Amino acid sequence: MPVPTTFRGLAWALVMTWMIGGGVAASVAALVVLILLHSLYRRRMLLPLKDLIGFTKRVGQGDLSQSAPLHRQDEVGELAAAFNHMVGRLRQSRDELVLLLHEAQEANRLKSQFLANMSHEIRTPMNGVLGFTDLTLQTQLSEEQRDYLETVKDSAESLMRVIDDILDFSKIEAGRLDLNNEPFTLRACVESSTKTLAAAAAQKGLVVSGEVDPDVPDEVVGDAVRLRQVLLNLLGNAIKFTSAGAVRVRVSRMPSADQHLAAHFAVSDTGIGIPPEKQALIFEPFRQADGSTTRLYGGTGLGLAISTRLVEMMGSRIWVESEPGRGSTFHFTCRFGTTAALAAEALPEAGPPPATGPLSVLLAEDNEPSRQLVLCLLKDAGHAVTVAATGHQVLSLLERQTFDLILMDIQMPEMDGLETTAEVRRRGSQSGTRIPIVALTAHAMHGDRQRCLEAGMDGYVSKPIDAAELMAAIYRAAAARQPVLPTGS
Ligand code: ADP
Repeated sequence: MPVPTTFRGLAWALVMTWMIGGGVAASVAALVVLILLHSLYRRRMLLPLKDLIGFTKRVGQGDLSQSAPLHRQDEVGELAAAFNHMVGRLRQSRDELVLLLHEAQEANRLKSQFLANMSHEIRTPMNGVLGFTDLTLQTQLSEEQRDYLETVKDSAESLMRVIDDILDFSKIEAGRLDLNNEPFTLRACVESSTKTLAAAAAQKGLVVSGEVDPDVPDEVVGDAVRLRQVLLNLLGNAIKFTSAGAVRVRVSRMPSADQHLAAHFAVSDTGIGIPPEKQALIFEPFRQADGSTTRLYGGTGLGLAISTRLVEMMGSRIWVESEPGRGSTFHFTCRFGTTAALAAEALPEAGPPPATGPLSVLLAEDNEPSRQLVLCLLKDAGHAVTVAATGHQVLSLLERQTFDLILMDIQMPEMDGLETTAEVRRRGSQSGTRIPIVALTAHAMHGDRQRCLEAGMDGYVSKPIDAAELMAAIYRAAAARQPVLPTGS
């Protein structure tokens, strides 16, 4: 019997509905399973990895204080453990580095301290040696005695130069040497350098001359003392290595793109010359063109190394042209600031300060030989001297007596020269008087002068004392004496 068409259609529709419904249900189930798997995967894999990424980012920013979470035994857990190990090693290395850095800083501080002490300890006895040799040379002596003493003086001066070179080099190496930037007279600087060495050159029958081209300005701004040091080193070498002929320094102007003055210095001689293969080497510390020159001419091999560093600090360079047997020319360039307002007293060589009448001087000095030396020098110059051995003695003498000037040693027992000066200034500002104070000290490192001036002193003379320099500083300070105006006037 034939199945009616409507029934067949119905059955077919039912089958289809069942099949589609099953498919949808299966799909939904599969989707649910997928979502479940994804969230499981996210929880088990992605979140721990995200934590690790955050952790490595914090480590990358320098935070070594944390550890990666370690609650898994699988590969992610191993990765976290490896990270922790790495961060532990980094932490250890960082701590070691910090320790080493502190040790290096402390060593540097001790080295500077050692340099300052060495400088002080060597200068103090040398002050006695040089000063008393000078004084003895001014007395009645036999020819032979004078000869011996001149040799003592020469040797002491050579020793001072070597000590100064070693200290200078150490200061430069330790980065503790700064350049001054003050107005000075370029021509006076060149002239004083050639004059200083004229006697040594004349002894060898050499002529030393200095020439500054007319278009080089007279007034420049820079470090006159260090420029002079470079010139003296080059001129000293030129004289040392030349037996006949002439030594000459010439300064010419170079084109400059800015407001600075660029100058070219050439120091030439007609001496032994330097072989081409040695010309670069001699600018290195402790190197000499020929070992036998040390025996023949003496020298530490530090002069050119110091000059090179100084010239570099002045923003320039140094080089040599030389032909063995015919002579050498050392060149260097320098950049200076320029100024129209040149203080006439910027360079001591500019002229002696005005002499004043006899002064009443209070000398604060605890070292016996230094005290004797200054006493002799001042008395010879007609000044009256009262001596104090400590800062406290200075203060109590000032309560009872008036003085025209104080010469103040820095390193004294109980109360040092800087503290004493501060107290003198404090009391002076109450009483309305301001007595000139000149530092007289073996503290000759860079910055010591500034420290003395900042403490309220008016001048600074370093040991070994140069008699002329001491007198100049005394007269300058005495001439600049000013009354303290009452407060509010
Ligand atoms: P020092 O002169 O104390 O040995 P320097 O550093 O000033 O030290 O010079 C290093 C070396 O360069 C000298 O020993 C010498 O060999 C060589 N030298 C320097 N200047 C001259 C010069 N004008 N003529 C010949 N040689 C020179």
